[in-house]
Amino acid sequence: MVLKCSKCGNPAVIYRKFEGKALCKHHFIRDVRFKVNRTIRKYGMIKRNDRVVVGISGGKDSALLLKLLRDKQKKQGHFELEALLIDEGIAGYRDKTKKYAKELCERLDVPYYEYSFKKSFGKTLDEMVKLEKEKYGYEVHACTYCGTFRRYLLNKGARELRADKLAIAHNLDDEAQAILANYLRGDLLRAVRIGYVPYFVEDEKFVVRIKPLRDIPEKETTLAAMLLELPFSLAECPYVTDAFRGDVRDIINMLEDKYPGIKYSIVRTFDRIQPALRSLVEMDRIRRCSRCGEPTSQRTCKACILLKRIGEE
Ligand code: SF4
Repeated sequence: MVLKCSKCGNPAVIYRKFEGKALCKHHFIRDVRFKVNRTIRKYGMIKRNDRVVVGISGGKDSALLLKLLRDKQKKQGHFELEALLIDEGIAGYRDKTKKYAKELCERLDVPYYEYSFKKSFGKTLDEMVKLEKEKYGYEVHACTYCGTFRRYLLNKGARELRADKLAIAHNLDDEAQAILANYLRGDLLRAVRIGYVPYFVEDEKFVVRIKPLRDIPEKETTLAAMLLELPFSLAECPYVTDAFRGDVRDIINMLEDKYPGIKYSIVRTFDRIQPALRSLVEMDRIRRCSRCGEPTSQRTCKACILLKRIGEE
């Protein structure tokens, strides 16, 4: 039996267990668009004349985010839009996904910018990982290097592009996983930093991050990107080995399967208790890194500490 759209009776492309609703292509895309626009409006993510830089990767989430923001911009025209890709230097992976990111920007007519680890730090991620292994004799967790330098460059790149907002393509699954992982690790400081309106100490060198896809489950970002025929890559990073995060993802997916809607519950509940959490945790004062001048809560930022670790000195 063909599943029918709960709104119009046409063949459905998705059945949402948590709502008990099936949707056809037209109503599904319309609903995703509605939810993203609602998130943007509700949390005042984009203001008139804002310059928004979207962090893109060549993957489905950032492809969908750029497309939806471009459509919004065309319709409302009150903000500027640019895309920024960080090339970590992962052979056989980023070089491939980058092609899709460029193609997407060309197709959507959005200016494309690229910052690379090699140009900014003198080494690719592959070289950093190799150096760490040579110097310290064990396999390093590449994501520690990658995450630190990527965050650093996204902020620096967006700031140099004079962005008011840096849009990140985190979906509902990413948020639910981050919330639960921080809770299980007992990392309150990190926990208070996530949320619809990220908590950060105001600083002229920080660009405000926004997450318009935060209400859209990963399954739906993939389907929407496919239905909209966006160019994106499904390639997986060869370093993806964060076993803990993988376990958290599996647990949440297992629970979602049994108790539909649990991902929304995790995020919604967290949003409600977050103001109380924030009052418990004292955020560090922001200062300038003694080596590079970027904002940090320590004397030296984490990027400079890692660079020194694998440097020649
Ligand atoms: Fe970077 Fe790790 Fe993600 Fe690969 S899996 S892109 S190394 S954070």
